[in-house]
Amino acid sequence: MYRTHTCGELRKADEGKEVTLAGWVQTVRKFGSINFVDLRDRYGITQLLFGEELNGQLDENPLGREFVLQVKGRVSERSNKNPNLPTGEIEIKVLSFSILNKAVTPPFTIQDDTDGGDDLRMKYRYLDLRRNAVKKNLELRYAVNRAARNYLHEHDFMDLETPFLIKSTPEGARDFVVPSRMNAGQFYALPQSPQTFKQLLMVSGYDRYFQIVKCFRDEDLRADRQPEFTQIDCEMSFVQQEDILHMFEGMIKYIFKQVKGIDYTEKIERMSWEDAMWNFGNDKPDIRFGMKILNLKFPAYTFPQKENRSDLIDGVNFQVFDSAETVLAIAVPGSSETTRKDLDLLTEWVKRPQVGMKGLVYIRYNADGSLKSSIDKFYSEDRLLEIAKAADAHPGDLILMLAGTEERTRKAVSELRLEMGKRKGLRKETEYKLLWVLDFPLFEYAEEENRWVARHHPFTAPKPDHIEIMIQHNPAIEDPAHYLKHPYAGIKANAYDMVLNGNEIGGGSIRIFQRGLQEKMFEALGMTKEESMHKFGFLLGAFEYGAPPHGGIAFGFDRLCAILGGSESIRDFIAFPKNNSGRDVMLDAPATIDDRQLAELSIKLDIEKK
Ligand code: ASP
Repeated sequence: MYRTHTCGELRKADEGKEVTLAGWVQTVRKFGSINFVDLRDRYGITQLLFGEELNGQLDENPLGREFVLQVKGRVSERSNKNPNLPTGEIEIKVLSFSILNKAVTPPFTIQDDTDGGDDLRMKYRYLDLRRNAVKKNLELRYAVNRAARNYLHEHDFMDLETPFLIKSTPEGARDFVVPSRMNAGQFYALPQSPQTFKQLLMVSGYDRYFQIVKCFRDEDLRADRQPEFTQIDCEMSFVQQEDILHMFEGMIKYIFKQVKGIDYTEKIERMSWEDAMWNFGNDKPDIRFGMKILNLKFPAYTFPQKENRSDLIDGVNFQVFDSAETVLAIAVPGSSETTRKDLDLLTEWVKRPQVGMKGLVYIRYNADGSLKSSIDKFYSEDRLLEIAKAADAHPGDLILMLAGTEERTRKAVSELRLEMGKRKGLRKETEYKLLWVLDFPLFEYAEEENRWVARHHPFTAPKPDHIEIMIQHNPAIEDPAHYLKHPYAGIKANAYDMVLNGNEIGGGSIRIFQRGLQEKMFEALGMTKEESMHKFGFLLGAFEYGAPPHGGIAFGFDRLCAILGGSESIRDFIAFPKNNSGRDVMLDAPATIDDRQLAELSIKLDIEKK
């Protein structure tokens, strides 16, 4: 037997027991004629005491960091207790030991505050995974996995696997493809999600499906994305939107309770997509704080139901605002005394290419009620006060205003709001705020292709009373500059996103389940009949054999873990992640394959092999 106990197990009550432990050498400390060794395994650290009598053997077989060591010894009370270690009251008086395997010196220290940089840690990820900090993250991941599984199992969901080698049927991103040796010249694709399979399972009558499953998307890696990631993927039959929201509110609350011990008893807020964009400039707002946008000016067709407040800024000949399509403002609480220098820095911040604004206008609403602004020359104090009031500002607040084109300005004000929220400490890591964003537009306009694309995916159902608009109107876009005026821009979907602290953690929709409507949808997306048959003939066919009404959702499992673990990076929660260029630096993949393999696949490269 290699061990009788783990390195995290023994306590004072075990005093006197003869035990065998096995693990990795964390540290060796010489103390006069005796040696102390910290032995580590997945469960913890136990101190070993090598008495003088073992020095001869130790000289012959010196121990080093990360050696795999087995010891037999007796549990005894420590004179110098360590209250920070669960095993800190005891140590093992070693009777005999055996080195099971030696280790070369690791390239970085296996400690919480390691000296290894990112690249080095990724290259030696198997060593990085020994560190407590990473281990805790993977334990949390497993806890989330377990909680989701338990909840779904309790609610009659069935875990069904779906294939990874499928047909290229893009869902929005680019597919990864796999050449087929047995079918020369043909390719499989890796699924961007099991979307069509889970819908087919509904047609087959498995009315509650789930899978914790890998998805593959060949995207340009924006910050903190992985080409392969994991979803908690779910689908249900005979449901309406409300049933799904209810079921998955239950799941997320269950996960909070099981994993974090948090009773999330409050009602999960709901917000329409339009309100999210109007008030926060963003479809995944962080509602842990307010700082809602004041919409002073915007193109009327973007928010047809909303009121324009350009009366507050018009008529003084201020070119910047007069010539802008959109002018938006936020009031930052308690910041009227921001120094000139900090305002200049903030102006530089909004001018960075990532934010892309030309400048920043400010109004200080001083604590004494007076107002001072960078646009004093144009606006009287009374006008400034009106703007401040409309922005819901109070004395002591700082009003920040941005002007430019609609899309860019709205995005910029959203980022500015998040940044100011962070600077003001309003985005507390320990506070969790869930939100449903509902009523998304069904379509999005793809400028490069001058056609409509599905905002969620092509299987999402329009709101029942918007189906007619889709059927009645031709999707052709005559005036690309004002695509938002096209009737399709106003069609809303039965789609929903779950947002946690400003992150989209899940999204789904009620699906189209009639062949005719699905065909119309493909047509609206610019597909010919032949194309839709070639790509989705199997689904259209299935819809003719009694498809039940159905809908579903998928949660971004990695992201959910990262947020619950208080980290910004999903990589920390994946055992073997890729780096920002999509490379596995440990395997050094992707890599070339040899000519024989290429020949077998009937593939000729038209680039030089590196
Ligand atoms: N398949 C969708 C996605 O990956 C989720 C869903 O609609 O259930 O985003």
